[in-house]
Amino acid sequence: MKLSSALPGLAAGMVVFLGNGSSAANAANAADAAFDRRFAGTFLEEYWKLWPDQAIAAGYYRVADDLVVPDAQARARRQHFLETWLARVRAVKADALDPAHRTDRLILILQLEGRIWQLTTYRDWQWDPSVYNVAEPFALLLNTGYAPVEERLRHVLRRLADVPAYYAAARASIEDPTPEHTALAIDQNKGTLEVFGRDLEDQIAQANLSPPERALFRARIDAAREAVQHYIDSLLMLDPAHRGAARSFRIGEALYEQKFRYQIANGSAARALYERAVEEKEAVLGRMDVLTGQLWPKYFPNAAMPADRSTRIRTLIDKLSEQHIPRDRMFETVKSQISMLEEFVTRHNLLTLDPSKPLEVRITPTYKLGIASASLDAPGPYDPGARTYYNVTPLDTLTAAQAESTLREYNNWMLPILSIHEAVPGHYVQLSYANRSPSLIKSVFANDAMVEGWAVYGERMMMEAGFGDDTAEQWLIYSKWNLRSVVNTILDYAVHTQNMSEADAMRLLTQEAFQADQEAREKWHRVQVTSVQLTSYFAGYSAIYDLRERLKREHPQSFDLRKFHERFLSYGSAPVGLIADLIEGGANGAR
Ligand code: ZN
Ligand code: ZN
Repeated sequence: MKLSSALPGLAAGMVVFLGNGSSAANAANAADAAFDRRFAGTFLEEYWKLWPDQAIAAGYYRVADDLVVPDAQARARRQHFLETWLARVRAVKADALDPAHRTDRLILILQLEGRIWQLTTYRDWQWDPSVYNVAEPFALLLNTGYAPVEERLRHVLRRLADVPAYYAAARASIEDPTPEHTALAIDQNKGTLEVFGRDLEDQIAQANLSPPERALFRARIDAAREAVQHYIDSLLMLDPAHRGAARSFRIGEALYEQKFRYQIANGSAARALYERAVEEKEAVLGRMDVLTGQLWPKYFPNAAMPADRSTRIRTLIDKLSEQHIPRDRMFETVKSQISMLEEFVTRHNLLTLDPSKPLEVRITPTYKLGIASASLDAPGPYDPGARTYYNVTPLDTLTAAQAESTLREYNNWMLPILSIHEAVPGHYVQLSYANRSPSLIKSVFANDAMVEGWAVYGERMMMEAGFGDDTAEQWLIYSKWNLRSVVNTILDYAVHTQNMSEADAMRLLTQEAFQADQEAREKWHRVQVTSVQLTSYFAGYSAIYDLRERLKREHPQSFDLRKFHERFLSYGSAPVGLIADLIEGGANGAR
């Protein structure tokens, strides 16, 4: 990654930010260089050998041949590796490092501790059959043009050899699986059979391979399919009576807090975030009600406002949702929004944007088609030259009713919020700042709460600057969107630690967050098979927001919003708690 396109004014902004002589980022010194050689270099190279699936996802193909058979020996090898490197990174003297490397060190410590915890305490390899699935790396090798097709197929061929051993180890590892993760594993592994299906056969047929290679492929594909099918069958055969008394998908308060600490790392406990989200939900609903009161006469001049708060807010949102673009205007609309958003950010002095790398808006490629209307496609840490794309999914393939429902959700006030989140000043801008202070450690172990929290904070930043002409309509629809991340947090915590029932969850999502039944059902499914991840949006957002408000209070004279944003982003995708420590000068890395 290149450093040459440094932003004008960014370095200066970092120096004068607090106006109290905090030191500028040091030039790389010997300790930093040694740290990089050892950890961004040797450590990661060794790491990829033990986690080749993750290597392929990161665009590191040197280990593409290898499939790790997930048996007890592999787990022991991984644990030994993690413990060895944890001792090594802890032994590095943090004081000798510059802030960027100090952060890298803390991120590594958190990662290594978290993975050891996952292997020894969380033990999802025992109760979550969906952790066993070979599909994704194979699909990536087949669909990513990192090398000529013959070379990629040979990687696939060598990887295929161990698929039967992989699923045998999976079956031997599972004990007391939850019914929900078992059902998920069955579903997802059915999808895996398709990866070894027609497309792969066509690629083999068209490639320049030798007859023995083709024969070997034939045999290995058959064996792989059989192994996947056998795994599915063995999951289906788990005794229903036993499954009735099986382990619950709810992970419980103790594991939840621990997982939250490693994964979110925003400097607070999960319980505290939950309580904050409960308060925030009421505050947002209160503001939405005030906005509804203001807008009601404009949209319903002849109807009395319903007495029930939820009903009147929902009625007004439904009314506003009628104002949306025609279904064939999705791509052009989103494309024109990007330059409008960039212009707004610059005019309001929110951030310095890098004009040298324009974001490319394109139609979502078919192999990436999903349910999302728009998504950001960013290059991986080992693919520095690649472009960033903003994928927009046209509504051509939807029925009239499906298209109408999508268009109402992404109405005239909501669609720009989506582009704010995904692109400017959300994910795309965060990523382009992260690429300017390149750190393999931060890219490989990017903190989800920081990344999502920044995008959610970006929405707030734009609204506060008067986006959408500061109208009550824009604020009301923004609030509905914002409520989603607040309620995700409540849902996740309450389901996993307080036994929240499906009926209560559906009520929360549909009655108090105005979500459609389909969206709420999908969310209920997601909260059963994941934990903590759903809190990352609000966890990151609230931590960034708090940091900003604290700095404003403590430095009323020197606080500068643009400089705050630029400095915050300059640390890369690190946990918000660490960035806050660095900005506030509290962290010396002593742990
Ligand atoms: Zn319509
Ligand atoms: Zn996002």
